[in-house]
Amino acid sequence: MWQLTPLPTLVTSVVVALMPIESDVEIGQAYVEMSGLRRRVLRDRVLDDAVGAISGRVLQALSRREREQYAWQFQVVDDDSVNAFALPGGWVFLNCGLLRATRTPEEVAGVVAHEMGHVLSRHSQKRMIEERLISTLLRALVHEDGDDEQEGFGERVAETLARGALQLGALRFSRANEFEADARGSKLLRAAGIGVGGMVSFFEELLRLEADAPSSALSREWLSTHPATTERIRTLRAQVDELPAAERARAWSGGAMRFRELDWEAVRRAAAIGH
Ligand SMILES: [Zn+2]
Repeated sequence: MWQLTPLPTLVTSVVVALMPIESDVEIGQAYVEMSGLRRRVLRDRVLDDAVGAISGRVLQALSRREREQYAWQFQVVDDDSVNAFALPGGWVFLNCGLLRATRTPEEVAGVVAHEMGHVLSRHSQKRMIEERLISTLLRALVHEDGDDEQEGFGERVAETLARGALQLGALRFSRANEFEADARGSKLLRAAGIGVGGMVSFFEELLRLEADAPSSALSREWLSTHPATTERIRTLRAQVDELPAAERARAWSGGAMRFRELDWEAVRRAAAIGH
């Protein structure tokens, strides 16, 4: 359906397209350094191996360019809430609480692919610019440092965003962002031979958690940043249903490559330690 794109969204897309991908990494790096997030990263062999194996499989679905331009890193955060988030440039963080809530590696792969979808669609940068559109553009135009004449407008916008990287901590994605990240993520899952069944079953598990404990911190946290779960499930299922019958099974549950090497109960136990 034809829709009128609001002007700020349109301007933002144009501005983000001018920013070099390398600058995404600088913005993400700036947030990691300013936020003290590193102190909350959990170092655990079992968890790191599991997340490494799963994300490694999803990364294979990227083009070589996409793999090399970003600083892909997947880490576990010592946090009980069921959530995950990504920073510009390829940092993906999975909370311990999320790993504990998953029942299969395929469910984690679904979350990983969704977060990668946000990174590849550059949603954080778009939201940052949208929220402070005029001031960001003015700063980039005036260019406080003024010493590098060669620098393009896109680079200057990126510098402005990197300086204000702490803003990332309070960002909320739009509904449209979430649906786009799902669509991009499900494409990655299918290309990686994993299938979208795990992504959908994790959303269903979240709905169950929410129904069992409507006011729990677990579900509130997820719902505040990932709205419209029921609709997202329906959309993902519909995308698979539209495929020719011969492709459907594989699109849903992947190919022969399964995460058989991972002992998921051991992973969940490791995610529970320390809480
Ligand atoms: Zn999301």
